[in-house]
Amino acid sequence: MVDWKNPPKLFIPGPVHVLPEVLQQLARPTMGHRNKEYAQLHNETIAMLKQVLFTEQNVFLVTSSASGIWEAAIRNCVAKDETVLACGCGAFSDKWGSVVKSCGRNVDLLKVEWGKPNTPEAIDEKLATGKYAAITLVYSETSTGLANPVYEISDMMKKKYPNVLVFVDSVSAMVGMPIHFDKLGWDVTFASVQKAFAIPPGFTVAAVSKRAIEKAKTVPERGYYFDFVDFAKNNEKDNTPTTPSIPHIAAVNFQAAKLLKEGMENVWKRHKEMGDYCRAWAKKNFDLFCDEKYCTNTLTTIKNTRNIDIGALNKALQAKHNLIISNGYGDLKNLTFRIAHMGDITMTDLKEVLGWIEEEIK
Ligand SMILES: *Cc1c(COP(=O)(O)O)cnc(C)c1O
Repeated sequence: MVDWKNPPKLFIPGPVHVLPEVLQQLARPTMGHRNKEYAQLHNETIAMLKQVLFTEQNVFLVTSSASGIWEAAIRNCVAKDETVLACGCGAFSDKWGSVVKSCGRNVDLLKVEWGKPNTPEAIDEKLATGKYAAITLVYSETSTGLANPVYEISDMMKKKYPNVLVFVDSVSAMVGMPIHFDKLGWDVTFASVQKAFAIPPGFTVAAVSKRAIEKAKTVPERGYYFDFVDFAKNNEKDNTPTTPSIPHIAAVNFQAAKLLKEGMENVWKRHKEMGDYCRAWAKKNFDLFCDEKYCTNTLTTIKNTRNIDIGALNKALQAKHNLIISNGYGDLKNLTFRIAHMGDITMTDLKEVLGWIEEEIK
């Protein structure tokens, strides 16, 4: 049996540590999803998320993990004869490219070496061919700890390719990094809630542009569960197409209210301060995997320059301090390790963890 009494505190890049008061939101009494109480919860939650994401367009409450929206963006907004440019810079963004293919759409991959960003120049060069209807892009690449220059890329897109749709995976960026959805001119962006929303896994928040909905109306066979047109129609009645995970929505409601009370600028600043601190520590004790200019603020991928046994380090941290950090992703397993500093993880937590790691590597 699992020991639920004394779980380790999670410093892995998802699922992240969840506060007891957030867990409590998931334990509220069940309500019917076609009644007034639900409609109020739905309406209020979306109104707050629109402020979190700086959008007046659509916000959808989706009961699935974020990977569902990888597929949804493609199946709703890309016709069978169109081609997508999938910008990859690590495990998650590369994977999205293969998902495009599995949805039966044409895709070209624009890949860079892991640890390097997708640049506006490289994307511009590909789009200049006129071949592409949409691009996929990751904001924060959780495998390498890299943040793509999404504001610069979006500026370039708006100026030169206003008709190309922009789909952005913000899974480990949303909440922790700025997203001005309408100003950026994006069409779809999304995050599962076990990252910087600091809620248990199983639910996703998505922003979808009006033009993406109009496009979806022209795409036949866009599937049932993730039909954006259906989501938009149901939103008008403060509802979802199918029974949603109401406990998750209660938790999103709670967290969104907290974020707005703090102010998004302050929330982003808090994440940047933790990122700066962790990066300075990494440079002093090891090295950063990415160029510092492109590091994400929600986690740090640290190059294992001392060739320490990361599995052993993690075991020691868990035994002595009841916490876990993350080893590197995939091929980077022993070459890097990752520490998440997002959501409700605080600077005090981070300093404590880094201090304990120092004790282990002395
Ligand atoms: C975690 C993560 C995903 C996958 O999210 P799920 O909720 O597991 O589907 C996708 N992209 C990025 C960048 C992630 O960090």
